[in-house]
Amino acid sequence: MEMRGDMHKDLEHIVLTEEQIRERIAELGAEISADYGDEPILLIAVLRGAALFVADLSRNITSPVELDFMAVSSYGSSTKSSGVVRIIKDLDEGIEDRHVLVIEDILDTGLTLKYLLKNLASRKPRSLEVCTLLSKQGKQRVPISCKYVGFDVPDEFVVGYGLDYAERYRNLPYVGVLKPAVYSE
Ligand code: IMP
Repeated sequence: MEMRGDMHKDLEHIVLTEEQIRERIAELGAEISADYGDEPILLIAVLRGAALFVADLSRNITSPVELDFMAVSSYGSSTKSSGVVRIIKDLDEGIEDRHVLVIEDILDTGLTLKYLLKNLASRKPRSLEVCTLLSKQGKQRVPISCKYVGFDVPDEFVVGYGLDYAERYRNLPYVGVLKPAVYSE
């Protein structure tokens, strides 16, 4: 049944299905749990894109987990990263001497994460690693060591499962590419 305003019809093709995402997150959760064991992990999700990912990932981790959130904004157009990053919402608690795992939705140029990691490292965590759901192939302009990567994806603008275009489509349960017509509306 197609309804008016149905967001699914705006998609040109699907890149990752709901099932692929679910299975990969279970694997990532198992890997992270094995690596940290009984050590408490502070998951720092980068708002707003990583909110859906961290909700599912955290439920697949058996180690003790605490959650905190950061919001950053990068200046520039909505589909390109400028590398100038501003903290909109900082962490609620200190991270000194804690095992920190930064949760990102997508690693594109790497500029946002580079800034964030430098900032977090200065607060002296015991360890600092990154888990990103998606990584765009061949796009990283700065080297980021990302310990956990869900999927490598082609260099296309994707939406869904937390990722937006002009704040829409975050609630799609899968990841896909929009029809070109959507951008010209
Ligand atoms: P970077 O600084 O270029 O690595 O950009 C990272 C941020 O840009 C992500 O956290 C997303 O918010 C946004 N972004 C990059 N590529 C995409 C995309 O294909 N779809 C939606 N948002 C994206």
